[in-house]
Amino acid sequence: MAGIKVDCPKCGTRTEFSAANPWRPFCSARCKTNDLGAWASDSYVIAGAPLEDASSDAEPPPAARPAGRPS
Ligand SMILES: [Zn+2]
Repeated sequence: MAGIKVDCPKCGTRTEFSAANPWRPFCSARCKTNDLGAWASDSYVIAGAPLEDASSDAEPPPAARPAGRPS
């Protein structure tokens, strides 16, 4: 699984998406922290979808998953 590269969602830097990169998919701790901070401040709230409509058993959107937590 090594060698996969992704663009950092925060700054767009090409970065390795692997276990060797604890900040994946971000390029660094700074980008990850900044992104999570933005989510906590307002983006997350604005994106709030009607979660009551959970009658479907579809998997939750990525936004509903707390980051940095291994399942
Ligand atoms: Zn970055």
